[in-house]
Amino acid sequence: MKTRIDLTAEQIAHLAGLVEGRISTHQSVLEQHSHDESAFVPVLPSAVVMVQSTEEVSAVLAYCNSEKIPVVAFGAGTSLEGHVVPLHGGVSVDLSNMEKIIEVRPDDLCVRVEPGVHRMALNAKLANEGLFFSVDPGADATIGGMCATGAAGTTTVRYGSMRENVMALTAVLADGTVINTGRATRKLSAGYDLTRLLIGSEGTLAVITEVTLRVFGIPEKMAAAVVRFPHLTDGVAAATAIVKMGIAVARCEFLDAKCIKYLNSYDSLTLVEAPTLFFEFHGSPRGVEEDAMSVQEIVREFDGTDFEWTSEENQRRKLWSARHNSHWATLAAHPGKKSVSTDMAVPLSRLAEAVALAERTLSQHSFPHSILGHVADGNFHCQIITDPAIKGQTEEIRKVVSEITFKIIAMGGTCTGEHGIGAGKIDSLVSETGAEAVDVMRSIKKALDPNGILNPGKIFTLAD
Ligand SMILES: Cc1cc2nc3c(=O)[nH]c(=O)nc-3n(C[C@H](O)[C@H](O)[C@H](O)COP(=O)(O)OP(=O)(O)OC[C@H]3O[C@@H](n4cnc5c(N)ncnc54)[C@H](O)[C@@H]3O)c2cc1C
Repeated sequence: MKTRIDLTAEQIAHLAGLVEGRISTHQSVLEQHSHDESAFVPVLPSAVVMVQSTEEVSAVLAYCNSEKIPVVAFGAGTSLEGHVVPLHGGVSVDLSNMEKIIEVRPDDLCVRVEPGVHRMALNAKLANEGLFFSVDPGADATIGGMCATGAAGTTTVRYGSMRENVMALTAVLADGTVINTGRATRKLSAGYDLTRLLIGSEGTLAVITEVTLRVFGIPEKMAAAVVRFPHLTDGVAAATAIVKMGIAVARCEFLDAKCIKYLNSYDSLTLVEAPTLFFEFHGSPRGVEEDAMSVQEIVREFDGTDFEWTSEENQRRKLWSARHNSHWATLAAHPGKKSVSTDMAVPLSRLAEAVALAERTLSQHSFPHSILGHVADGNFHCQIITDPAIKGQTEEIRKVVSEITFKIIAMGGTCTGEHGIGAGKIDSLVSETGAEAVDVMRSIKKALDPNGILNPGKIFTLAD
């Protein structure tokens, strides 16, 4: 699909009839749906449709398919690779009105939700039942968006990512067909795993309209710890050693000295500006203390100093809220600028080397940057500041990011541990999986969406 599709007045009127008039072509609404949180150039959709049910999504998709109108599903718009940018115009289908928590099932440790539910609202509700949903990307994303990007977060090392925590889905295919995948069972071996096919499909195969998620009991005790290191790679190597020792950390996050500086200023903290690991431990009071003490011993071997731990709830929350604010803290330190956020993962044994490679490469350029990551998963991010007012700067940064990414792939790593491919990593995906595997993905896409209406221009290019 090469051209931009703008809807005719008739098409807009027809779509309006399918959703009780909830369609907008107002400039401000189009602009809101033209971009995500990345530095990609915004593109306006031709119209925004606010859907409220699976039936409405089905009717909208069936019509758009018959008219060959591109459709981009929109959750909270927090993705980072241009995922929701409607590259070919058409319709942005906004799912944020579908925000019902349909059913909490404490005895089955699962919850059924609509896709527009935000992860923080879900956790506020689950807390009343002594439960929590574990996947926590840094933004307050929607569950549908998190399914579609295969999101992960700070607790993935202990509880898994969306891939491990989605049990079942309802989804609408391009022609309006509604399918159900998976069951609310702990085990399932029935046929092709369509649930996992849709997780990470970035709105290119179907629009997800209902999700059954696994949830966990809130641990009896939680404690947080902080430790500093003289060098970036010491902290990373310590995190790797902790995972190898089998210590069940619930969170283990690395932040470089610049990240800490930004957090101090943004969150009024007084942390020492040095490479730092943040930890969290979950379990019984005794288990948590034992884990913290074991970690303290290991970090000493890597020159970790000033190990401090606390089970005081306010301090623990403050620390992790600061960690989740790191993107905004970095932007606040660079007013008027944007951030290019990379997302790579390597086998654990290569992590220290990979982080050193990224730091070395970025240091050869003058763009402000910082490094942080979910290091216990071998996953790290570089936040690189770009000035949108300087023509060509974002493209120059993207070239440097590609250079690092290709080296990471050559080390056996992946171009994305959690953010996904979007429009930004199409070449990296080919380099990582090979053209043959991408062709298999194209075949699946053609089988489910023969007119290529669902989020065209993302993950891979389609031949015309
Ligand atoms: C500060 C910050 C920190 C972040 N930290 C993390 C992190 O730690 N881990 C992580 O994984 N990500 C992280 N992200 C990225 C982002 O939050 C995730 O990718 C998130 O899953 C996107 O959800 P969303 O609701 O914003 O989706 P959107 O951005 O609206 O959409 C993302 C993609 O999903 C598709 N989509 C949305 N809803 C549906 C649906 N119902 N059915 C089918 N397709 C759909 C869209 O078409 C698009 O392709 C971060 C982003 C920011 C800004």
